[in-house]
Amino acid sequence: MIGDRSSVSDYVNLYSHTHHVLASPDVTLRQTLIGSGVRITYHATVLAGVCVGDDALIGTGAVVTKDVPPHAIALGVPARPVRYKVRHDCPYCRRGEPHPSQCQDRLPDRKPNPDYPDFLKPGFGTREA
Ligand SMILES: [Zn+2]
Repeated sequence: MIGDRSSVSDYVNLYSHTHHVLASPDVTLRQTLIGSGVRITYHATVLAGVCVGDDALIGTGAVVTKDVPPHAIALGVPARPVRYKVRHDCPYCRRGEPHPSQCQDRLPDRKPNPDYPDFLKPGFGTREA
């Protein structure tokens, strides 16, 4: 889901699913949420299940693996917030209150392949490097 006034540049990848590392047909569907007024710049990738907060900016070529807070400028692989836009016109910033967000409304993950009905724990089937 993409909020209003958001822009998605050329060659951006927005994912809505992941594959298990050992079994490609084991797919998990995750809702990816992009807030309002977000800019996702050239060649950036947003992995499945991530929530990008309102007014955030995702840098060129970034790979977003975790939620991005409102107003954040997130760069790199994996993407990290490096700066925050200062928005004096934002009533939530001005009052120091949390911003309203759709992140908590993300739909639960789903399994589309009946051959792989179970959610495996993150990292299942792998070991630390
Ligand atoms: Zn704000």
